[in-house]
Amino acid sequence: MHQSMIHNIVRTARRSLLAAFAMAALLLIILPLEHGFTDNRISAANEKVRAAAVIAEQIKLEDERLTMSAWMAATTGDQRWVDRYNRYLPAIDREIAEAKALAPDALSKRFDAETSKANEALVALESAAFEAIKTGDLARARAILDSGEYRKQKKILSDGTSKFSHGLSAYAAAELASVKGRMHVLLFVMSSLVGVGFLVMWHLLNKHLSRLEVDYSHTERRLHMRAAHDELTGLLNRRSFNDKATEMIERANASGVGLTVITMLDLDNFKDVNDTLGHQVGDELIRAVGRRIMNRLPESAILARLGGDEFAIAANALDEAHAQRIIEEALGCLKETFALQNEHLRISTSAGIALGPNHADNIADLLRLADMALYRSKSDGRNSIHMFSPEMDETVRIRRELESDLRNAIADGQLELHYQPLCNTPESAISGLEALVRWNHPTKGMISPAMFVPIAERNGQISELDAWVMERAFQDSRRWPTIVTAINLSPRQLKHPDFLSIINRLLERYQVDPRMFELEVTESLLLEESERVQNVLATLSHMGFRIALDDFGTGYSSLSYLRKFAFDKIKIDQSFIKSIETSTGAAEIIRSVVNLGNALHMTITAEGVETNEQRQFLEAAGCQQLQGYLFGRPDTAEAIENRLVQQHRSVA
Ligand code: C2E
Ligand code: CA
Ligand code: CA
Repeated sequence: MHQSMIHNIVRTARRSLLAAFAMAALLLIILPLEHGFTDNRISAANEKVRAAAVIAEQIKLEDERLTMSAWMAATTGDQRWVDRYNRYLPAIDREIAEAKALAPDALSKRFDAETSKANEALVALESAAFEAIKTGDLARARAILDSGEYRKQKKILSDGTSKFSHGLSAYAAAELASVKGRMHVLLFVMSSLVGVGFLVMWHLLNKHLSRLEVDYSHTERRLHMRAAHDELTGLLNRRSFNDKATEMIERANASGVGLTVITMLDLDNFKDVNDTLGHQVGDELIRAVGRRIMNRLPESAILARLGGDEFAIAANALDEAHAQRIIEEALGCLKETFALQNEHLRISTSAGIALGPNHADNIADLLRLADMALYRSKSDGRNSIHMFSPEMDETVRIRRELESDLRNAIADGQLELHYQPLCNTPESAISGLEALVRWNHPTKGMISPAMFVPIAERNGQISELDAWVMERAFQDSRRWPTIVTAINLSPRQLKHPDFLSIINRLLERYQVDPRMFELEVTESLLLEESERVQNVLATLSHMGFRIALDDFGTGYSSLSYLRKFAFDKIKIDQSFIKSIETSTGAAEIIRSVVNLGNALHMTITAEGVETNEQRQFLEAAGCQQLQGYLFGRPDTAEAIENRLVQQHRSVA
C-alpha cells in the first residue's frame, strides 16, 4: 500500500513536471510562430496601403506628364513631344493595371466603368491633336486640347482615378485592420486554448493528488490506529494506555480529589482454551471479553489489552470502596457464559488493583503494584480481585534496599571472590577456576550474585563491581600460576569506554600473564551486533586473553554467534545438563554442540555437573571440561589453594 502510494506520488509529480514542460515548450513554439505570422500579415497589409498611395500618386504624375507632353507638342509643334507622349502612354496603363491588381474586383470594375470611356475619348482627342500637329495646324491642336470636351473628359478621368486611389487606400487600410483584428482573435483563441489546457491538466493533477491525499490519510489513520491500538481487539495498546492513564492521573492529582484506579487482569487458564479449542476460539474469547468489560465500564474509564490474555483498566473513583465496586461490576459480567463458534465457555478472571495517588503517583509504578496484587490473586487460587497492599511490595522493598546497600558494599569490603574448579576429563584434575563474586551483607548474610548482579547492571554499578572482581582475581591468581582463572564480564562492562585501559592498568600493576585468564561473556552481548564490542573482544583476544561464551543455549540461539567471533571456549548452560536424563533433545543438543566445538577447535565445558551419570554422559559425548558441584562448589581462595596443593602432592 505504502509502496504503491509512493509510486503514485512520484508518478504524479513526474507527470506534472512533464506537463509543465510540454506547455512551456508549446508556448515557446507558438508565440514566435504566431508573432511571425501576424507580423507577416500586418506588414503585407501595410505594404498594400503604402503601394496604393504610391500608385495613386504615380497615376496622377503619369497623367500630368501625358497632358503636358500633349500641350508642349501642340504649342511647339515639335514631334519629339509626341514621341514622348507615346512613350509615357503605356506607363500609365501599367500603373492602372498594377493598381487594379491591388484593388478588389468591384473597385476595379467601377474604375473601369467610370474612366474607360473618358480615357478612350481623351486618347482620341489627343490623337486628333497630334494629327493636327502633323499637318502643322498647331492652332487646331491647341483648340482640341483646350476644348470643353477635353477638359470634361480629363476631369472624369482624374475624378475616377482619385476615387479609385482613395478606394484602394481605404480598402488596404480596412484589410490591415481586419488582419490585425483576426490576429488578435487568433492570439486570444490560442492563449485560451493553452489556458484551458493548463486548467484541465491542473484539475486532473489536483484530482489525482487529492485522491492520493485521501488514500494517505486513510493509511495514516490506520497506522496511527495500529500504533495506538491493539490489533486483535481494537482496544488501546500498552503505550496509548500509559499515555491516557498518565493524563487521568495528572488531572486527578491536580484537582486533589478522587483516585485513579489502575487494574491489571487476566483470564484464568486461558492457555487451556487456546490449547484445547484452538487459537481462533481463543482470539474470539479475548475480543468478547474486551467488549463485555468495555460495556460495563464508566464512560470516562479506559481499557487496554496489554498482550495475550492480559488487560488493564484505568478509571476515576471517589474512594477505595468506589474503586472496588467499579472493578467488581466491570468484571462481574465475565462470569456469564460465552457462546463462541458453537462452544459454550465459562471463564474466571484474576485481577489486581492499585490506587493513585495512595499507592504511587505514576502509571509505571501503579501498573507494577497492580501486577503484584494480580499475582496475589493468582497465588490465592485465582478467580479473585485483590487490592494492592504495601506488604506485597516486600520483594520490591528488599531490592531497593539492596540497591542502596550495594553502593557501599565495594568500598566497605563486603564483596568476596570465590572460585569454582573446572576439571579436565577424564582424570578430573583441576585445570581452571571460575571466579564467582559473593556479597557478605552485614545483616542479610551471603547474597547470591544472581540477586545483586542484575541490580548492579541496572543501576550502573556493574563496572565498578567487575573491575573489583578483575583486580581481586589478578591478585589471587598469583597463588595458582599454572591454572587458568575465568572471570565473568557483564555486557555493560565490555561497552565501558575505559574498559581496556582499566585492564591494562591492572595487568601492569599485578604483572600477570593475560594467557592465564579466560573472560566469560554471554550471548546477549553479541545480540547487539555492535562493532565496538566485537573490536574490544578482538583486542582482548589479541592481548592473549581466552574468550569463553558462557551459558550457551539459553539465549537467542545460538550457532550464528559462533560465526561472529572466534571463541576459545563454549560453556554449555547447566539447564541442558540438568535435562540430560529427562530429555533426549537436550542430550542431542549437547552432542551436536560438542561436535561443532571440536570441529571449530573450541574447548567445550559443561556447567552444573552434579551427578556421576551426567559426568559419564558428558565424557562419552566428548566434552573436555566439566564444572559443577560434583567436582567442587565455589570456595574461598584459601580453600581452593589448599585443594590445589593437595592435588599437586597426590600427582607427585
Ligand atoms: P554463571 O556464570 O553461569 O556461574 C555459574 C553459576 O552456577 C554459579 O552461581 C555457580 O555457583 C553455579 N553452579 C556451579 N555448579 C553448579 C552445580 O553443580 N549446580 C548448581 N545448581 N549450580 C552450580 P553463582 O555463583 O550464584 O553465580 C550466578 C551468576 O552470577 C553467574 O552465573 C554469573 O552469571 C553471575 N556472576 C557471578 N559472579 C560474577 C562476577 O564476578 N561478575 C559478573 N558480571 N557476573 C557474575
Ligand atoms: Ca560464568
Ligand atoms: Ca554459566
